[in-house]
Amino acid sequence: MKSENAFLMCEPQFYGVEYVINPWMKGNVGCVDRSVAMQQWKHLHATLSSLGEIKLVQPIYGLPDMVFSANGGLTYEGVFISSYYRYPQRRPETQYFTSWFREQRFRIAELRSGATFEGEGDALFQPGRPLLWGGYGPRTSLAAHRDLAQMFEVELVPLRLIDERFYHLDTCFCPLPEDRLLYYPQAFDHESLDAIHSHIPAGNRFEVSDADALNFACNAMDLDGRFITNFATEALRQKLESWDFEVTACPLSEFIRAGGSVKCLVLRLSHPLVAAAATAARPATSICEREVMAEGHLLDRGVASQILDCVKEAGCDFEIHSLNVGQRHDQPSAMRFSVVAPGPQRLDTVLERLLRIGVRLTEGESDARVTRVQSDGVAPWGFYGTTIYPTDLRVKGEWVRVSDQRMDGVIVVGDSPDGVIAHCVLIRNLKKGDEVVCGVEGIRIHSHHETREHEPFGFMTSPVSSERRVEAAVEDLAWEMLRIREQKGRIVIVAGPVVIHTGGGAHLARLIRTGYVHTLLGGNAIAVHDIENALLGTSLGIDLKRGSAIHGGHQHHLRAINIIRACGGIAEAVQQGVLRHGVMYECIVNHIPFCLAGSIRDDGPLPETQMNLITAQEEYAQLIKGANLILMLASTLHSIGVGNMTPAGVRLIAVDINPSVGLKLADRGSAECSSIVTDVGLFLRLLADRLEAENRSSAAGVK
Ligand code: NAD
Repeated sequence: MKSENAFLMCEPQFYGVEYVINPWMKGNVGCVDRSVAMQQWKHLHATLSSLGEIKLVQPIYGLPDMVFSANGGLTYEGVFISSYYRYPQRRPETQYFTSWFREQRFRIAELRSGATFEGEGDALFQPGRPLLWGGYGPRTSLAAHRDLAQMFEVELVPLRLIDERFYHLDTCFCPLPEDRLLYYPQAFDHESLDAIHSHIPAGNRFEVSDADALNFACNAMDLDGRFITNFATEALRQKLESWDFEVTACPLSEFIRAGGSVKCLVLRLSHPLVAAAATAARPATSICEREVMAEGHLLDRGVASQILDCVKEAGCDFEIHSLNVGQRHDQPSAMRFSVVAPGPQRLDTVLERLLRIGVRLTEGESDARVTRVQSDGVAPWGFYGTTIYPTDLRVKGEWVRVSDQRMDGVIVVGDSPDGVIAHCVLIRNLKKGDEVVCGVEGIRIHSHHETREHEPFGFMTSPVSSERRVEAAVEDLAWEMLRIREQKGRIVIVAGPVVIHTGGGAHLARLIRTGYVHTLLGGNAIAVHDIENALLGTSLGIDLKRGSAIHGGHQHHLRAINIIRACGGIAEAVQQGVLRHGVMYECIVNHIPFCLAGSIRDDGPLPETQMNLITAQEEYAQLIKGANLILMLASTLHSIGVGNMTPAGVRLIAVDINPSVGLKLADRGSAECSSIVTDVGLFLRLLADRLEAENRSSAAGVK
């Protein structure tokens, strides 16, 4: 018997599947054959007894999972760190394990933060190295591993588990002596696999198959050249034999019903090789954290859950230090919390996402970090990507407001005679030597949940309005457009060709004529079909009055393009009396600026269509400046393009038969975007009629 091999087991006297806390337990409640389970456990016990000293903790009635002693805690150099189970069903186990270890004269320790921790199930030493692998996600939290890293003189490598079936690290990961490893890659996220690969050389690690993983081959014990497992495929067996292991099968089918096998049934009482190899200097862990805070309407707008979901989805943890809830609907709430991340890069990524939803960094706020551009049009690694929201930047201890705010740009910092300036620039426009903000320090974003000012119209408070409410929506919108026109504001229309196909062209033309449109943005197609309709009475070959196809009509749009090209352009066609009505006609005669952005599917194009997309984007951005309202009519492509370049605070209204346009814009941060889900032709008729009625009442002096 090798004295350094000492283990703790627990007889399965009260074992059974009595609740469901992992996918393996589903369908197995009450199905365990306890006498078979006892035989299987005794076989494992006998096998291990020949290789080490087995100690037993008393099983407790009503704690069926106590048999899985590996989850009871973690031992290291005479210290026992007790578990804090994720599920309440298992929490009472802790007191019995702790008492046992206290009687054995172990020093008892608890994790500083009280975070969930499931012992050796999620904390495995690499034999012979001062290296502790920390599984987190389904059960153990990342914060627990941060605490462990501070307690032990070992390097702690966090590994995120992403498949609920492999809810503990020891179900899919088996470190072996001589720097070897068995693991099931599908159970881990990308960054965790990178961490595994950077710590264990390729020739020393073996990726187990689905068959091995699903039969708990990794949930095994290695002892003095023996590998004890429930199951091993021929390929795994051969690999282990090539590493000089003798494979011993210990079938444990009754325990697999509860999601456990060999390793789960055994807790190591010592890790002698680790202690021997430990170095004096404290090795690092990549786990890091940052305290942040959020203020505003966090609860009633669902922002708090958005923030916390964002942290969890990124594979990070949060610890809330304080949450002060506003007592009335107009009082903001405040939440101060820490984000714990598996590494600095992930921390930066999640902080950047959090800043976008209005979170701020707290203590130790420092200046923004800037890095010089090395080549024209290429941003430095780690650049900060901008949002649509007003942003402040801390430079030389002072806060400055970023200008030209838009989404998906970077921030360039520079000097002017008036002091430091910061503005948004597209990556393609960066110049060598520009100083670009990187990381998240020294950045404050003023996002939408901070205040209840600028509350949109009633109908727009929900992201998508229903068909039944279209008339009410038109009513509100008409009032808003009237007000903007009276106050000499600017309304931008973004329109797709469906406007013409649905018969909405005539109504859009009325809006232009009556002064409700100050800029038109679209593609080649809206202009082509509008002109086709004006010249030939069809749109895409369909007679819009009768709704039927015209013989040879499929070529009408080409004829229309040809006529305009012959004139030299749309404006020339109007001057020459060729084009006498329609949307484009009204734009020309009313001097409404427009931009037609080209695309790969464009026929023609019309001479005015801007086929240089970069120039088109710049023209769009220029024409949007100063807009009070942007009404986006039936075009996914152009609406999303415009949404991305529009700063927060401008009303965005998407009218589309499909709610996805509004939702996509909301996803990209244009949270002020509202949707009116309806047919655009009908909508335009209602709107133009409503505004015409307003015009008539004003003319008649009715208020
Ligand atoms: P798009 O996919 O961007 O948008 C079409 C939108 O119209 C969709 O969101 C759809 O849900 C919506 N829609 C459809 N029927 C509707 C209805 N009855 N009422 C309200 N909404 C309705 O496509 P796009 O704007 O047609 O074209 C993208 C690009 O392709 C543009 O640059 C355009 O100039 C170019 N192009 C289009 C055509 C064409 O005939 N569609 C032809 C040539 C080039």
